[in-house]
Amino acid sequence: MINIVLFGKPGAGKGTQAEFLKDKYNLVHISTGDVFRYNLKNNTELGKQAKAFMDKGDLVPDELTIKMLQDEVEKNIQATGFLFDGFPRTIAQAEALDRFLESKDWSVTATVALEANDEVLIQRLLERGKTSGRPDDQNEDKIRNRYDEYNEKTAPLIDYYTKKNLFYSVNGIGTIEEVTQRLSLIIDDFIDK
Ligand code: AMP
Repeated sequence: MINIVLFGKPGAGKGTQAEFLKDKYNLVHISTGDVFRYNLKNNTELGKQAKAFMDKGDLVPDELTIKMLQDEVEKNIQATGFLFDGFPRTIAQAEALDRFLESKDWSVTATVALEANDEVLIQRLLERGKTSGRPDDQNEDKIRNRYDEYNEKTAPLIDYYTKKNLFYSVNGIGTIEEVTQRLSLIIDDFIDK
């Protein structure tokens, strides 16, 4: 069982890399952002509850997010591994993930982060907003708010996973293939251990 946490700021390329890594390592890809957007689009109860937070670029409350993540894992319980993209984003989520995986006799195999300069990422997101249709990518204030959320609530996870010897980061700037290659080197190392 391989459980990879793909870590990085908004716009760092997590979704793009996840598409390649999930095939390469035969993992079920769970993007909490994608699941929330799907629920929003279909106007489900979860979508209604998450909407106000997502519209502002705030994190959705832990309780809702953790429950949703667990449901997604349970739906794919036969998987040989998971690629968590955009989760965990708070210490409470990381602790809940550890407890949840432990209850299945699993654990986080590795956390790999995509590093890039904030200003480069903000320009990338504004560019993406022109075609993605994502309202949270189209407004610089909302983007900056997502960075504030990241710095305040998500950045402490670096320490959390470093203490467990599970945190690795790679330069997220380069061609898609170059970045996939950098991530793969790290993941391969953990798998061999
Ligand atoms: P993303 O596509 O990962 O950038 O996520 C888009 C939005 O979904 C975020 O700005 C949050 O509002 C919400 N979201 C996604 N993942 C999480 C999470 N792990 N915890 C809280 N909110 C999340």
